Amino acid sequence: MGNSPAWRFYLLGGTVAVVVCALLPYGLTRDGLYSLIGMSSAAAAFAAAARCRGAVGLLWLLMGIGQLSAALGDALWTYYDHIAHVDPFPSPADGLYLLQYPIVAVALLMLARHHRSPGDREARLDAAILIVGLVLPYWVLVIAPSIGGYDSALEEAITLSYPLGDVLLLAALVRLLAASHARTPSGRMVTVALVLVMAGDVIFVLDEEGVSTTAVGVLPFLTSYLIWGAAALHPSAADLLRAAPETAPSFTTRRLVTLTAVVLLAPGTLIAQLTFGFELSAWPVSITSVLLFVLVVARMAIMLRRLQDQARRLDEIARTDTLTGLPNRRTLDAQLVRAYERAARDGTPISLALLDLDRFKLFNDTHGHQAGDELLAGAATAWSLVITNADMLARYGGEEFVLLMPGRGLEDAEHLLAALRVVTPQGQTFSAGLALWDGRETPLELLRRADTALYAAKEAGRDRAVRAAPAVRNVTALPAAGNNL
Ligand code: GH3
Ligand code: MG
Ligand code: MG
Repeated sequence: MGNSPAWRFYLLGGTVAVVVCALLPYGLTRDGLYSLIGMSSAAAAFAAAARCRGAVGLLWLLMGIGQLSAALGDALWTYYDHIAHVDPFPSPADGLYLLQYPIVAVALLMLARHHRSPGDREARLDAAILIVGLVLPYWVLVIAPSIGGYDSALEEAITLSYPLGDVLLLAALVRLLAASHARTPSGRMVTVALVLVMAGDVIFVLDEEGVSTTAVGVLPFLTSYLIWGAAALHPSAADLLRAAPETAPSFTTRRLVTLTAVVLLAPGTLIAQLTFGFELSAWPVSITSVLLFVLVVARMAIMLRRLQDQARRLDEIARTDTLTGLPNRRTLDAQLVRAYERAARDGTPISLALLDLDRFKLFNDTHGHQAGDELLAGAATAWSLVITNADMLARYGGEEFVLLMPGRGLEDAEHLLAALRVVTPQGQTFSAGLALWDGRETPLELLRRADTALYAAKEAGRDRAVRAAPAVRNVTALPAAGNNL
């Protein structure tokens, strides 16, 4: 962008102007300079608006209008106070000041919208918890004491509008900070400037000693103008809407500590009031507590549901083979036990076949590993379409599959294997070892018998199914595969 020094010059020159302004005695010169600093901030925002295209340009335009509104308020105030010599409060200057709040809040919410992340529901709830929690001390310390004691209802309404405007700004700012993981220097400066405006308002509203016209009273606003202007001129002003990295919403310790501290503000308020003998804010604390409890429970509910979803997804991943989408060995083992229990109860047979693609290594070497993968997935799909719901096809490992057939005897199972043979893709063949559960052997023993039969099928020339020899009990000799089909 080539204008990176601009913001430094602005910040440097502005700091001098702010210091001079704060040190000047209350009067036309000081308040004139004050208005000019405000105007310069608005000008910087308009410059950013002109420089940036699209939504981010609109954002700076809004902020510029907000700043201009406040700066024009300053100018009008100065005019009433030092030129027309009338009391500037209440006056249209207040209208200009107050206009700033909704405009800036809209800009901030626009920013928050752009930074919404996948976990935005949580972010929104976090923001709500923070806002509700923070509004309580704000109400107790700032708003409630300023109610009553004014010459007119208009004066009271205007005075109370400032802290309410601050609540609006605070809400929008918290919403933005909770939603966004993208932090740019410009964005950080805007945040600081906003906090300064709110701090200035608090001093102004609580002011009983006439501090607001002294250096202490004006410095927050002046510094806010300055930092806002620098934010607009900073090169990163164009990146204000830059999307945050697509990270999964993480619940950081900082967020947990912040939320805990804010939730504790409600009982903390009562404790402080009891300890120091202040009047109790029973109603505000009760209402805030109810809201906070509901929000925290909602937050927990969302988090729990997310956890359950994740657990379900993880379970699915753990039980499925990624390449073929078939159940994996772990699922097969569990299913075998269940099938055993049912067969023992009903007296129905269980057949189990171990399938192994023939000369798959050659296929891989000839067509490439990826083609091999496609064959595995293709065979899994084709076979799955042939078997029934009662059967279960699982990937046992490599190019070996297990077909569990509860309710089928050997003959029935052989028919099914013949049907699978027909649909095996790309003219490929498989060999199978087929075993019938003897009602006593363990899953491992059953699989071992099927494996022995598979070996026999390979030996016999492949592309066939071989029945396993019946299980031999209490005999030391190894059972031989037989019954070549
Ligand atoms: P046989 O007819 O005796 O079964 O011969 P074969 O070549 O099929 O058997 P062998 O055990 O010699 O080779 C199996 C090959 O399967 C070796 C291995 O690289 C390949 N393989 C195992 N898992 C995968 C996989 O997930 N994808 C691919 N593309 N190849 C695999
Ligand atoms: Mg093999
Ligand atoms: Mg093989």
